[in-house]
Amino acid sequence: MNPYTIFSEIIAGTAPSSMVYEDPEVVAFMDIRPVTPGHLLVIPRVPARSLAELDPALGGKLFQVGQRLAAALRESEVNCDGVNFFLADGVTAGQEVFHVHLHVIPRTPGDGFGLRARATSPQRADLDYLAGSIRGALQRNPGIS
Ligand code: 5GP
Repeated sequence: MNPYTIFSEIIAGTAPSSMVYEDPEVVAFMDIRPVTPGHLLVIPRVPARSLAELDPALGGKLFQVGQRLAAALRESEVNCDGVNFFLADGVTAGQEVFHVHLHVIPRTPGDGFGLRARATSPQRADLDYLAGSIRGALQRNPGIS
């Protein structure tokens, strides 16, 4: 499957973008359809389609750059009382562009942004069962342990 998306074109400079950060591994630019003013996307230069394809060290770098951008947003002219990070991995999670990206979303009171979710109250035994299953998966797969 072709790993190249509009984000590869932005990195190559063949599609327009409003860039805010560039280094040899990572770039960040304004989201073209911001959910709040100042909404940024942080992406690796390599066209990893999913978290599974992304070098974990590079995943850490996305978060580091996101942290710097969160601080910059608070110091900039963007209205920013708080920040949300959001990453959609997979269609079911809402991923639309298949080049891993971390959303950095400035927040102000009443800005309308939010995740719709219904918290549940499982029994401890159910939490323990799934915890054991996840621990087992970590042990079986050295790539994620
Ligand atoms: P996802 O739903 O995959 O997590 O988010 C994709 C994001 O990419 C959306 O917020 C969307 O507005 C943004 N986006 C899609 N196409 C472009 C584009 O051509 N330029 C920019 N700057 N952002 C884009």
